[in-house]
Amino acid sequence: MKPVVVVLAAPSGSGKTTIARALIARWPERYGFSVSATTRPPRAGERDGEAYYFVSRPEFDEKRRGGEFLEWAEYAGELYGTLAREVDRLLGVGRHVLLDIEVQGARQVRRAYPPPESVAVFILPPSATELLRRLEGRRTESPTERARRLETAVAELQQAETFDHVVVNDDLDTTVAAVDQIVAGRQSAPPDPGAAKRIRTLVGELKRQIKEIS
Ligand code: ADP
Ligand code: 5GP
Repeated sequence: MKPVVVVLAAPSGSGKTTIARALIARWPERYGFSVSATTRPPRAGERDGEAYYFVSRPEFDEKRRGGEFLEWAEYAGELYGTLAREVDRLLGVGRHVLLDIEVQGARQVRRAYPPPESVAVFILPPSATELLRRLEGRRTESPTERARRLETAVAELQQAETFDHVVVNDDLDTTVAAVDQIVAGRQSAPPDPGAAKRIRTLVGELKRQIKEIS
């Protein structure tokens, strides 16, 4: 099968990084992960060149001016960008390229790789309570930073319906299998008629949670 660009988008904490890693662990010949550049500082245990290439703002600007990014966006006050060379390298060796990116970047990628060259999957958490639990459980952000990410999550969820596919990340193995199926049969998958209602419910729950914690 011709390799494609797989855009995984989701509110922070929904599990897209975990899903991408699991797809690669399960099918290392089929999938590759595009390592982005970011100005955000590394979290404990994150090594340069694995989760991200950690760069300074001047370095990021230089790459941007040099046309190195396929797309880039600002998220929670930091810059993030997909390096064109990462995507080209993985497509060149015949792997589907997993992009773990936010929604503005997802739109830019869709323009650069129109379907069927790309497939966009929006990952939903099972509930707002579970999203909060996962974000807190990850222990990587301060309460203020978490609150900021939840606010962003509301805006991102409101764009979820524009994606080709929406998958609820409840049981991880089921999610990983579903994403792989979508990539394999990307032209024919029917839209989920229940997705719009589910998204509206999540947005309502999340707004209530944000009010409670602020
Ligand atoms: P994202 O990349 O979307 O910000 P992560 O992949 O970092 O999210 O996941 C956030 C947290 O939720 C992590 O601690 C991860 O282990 C956990 N997680 C991810 N998927 C699941 C799942 N299906 N069930 C339970 N916990 C999950
Ligand atoms: P985190 O700081 O949690 O690693 O990532 C914050 C957000 O930035 C997540 O939604 C993640 O998907 C997104 N992101 C990571 N890399 C990129 C990228 O290269 N481009 C864009 N547009 N978003 C990215």
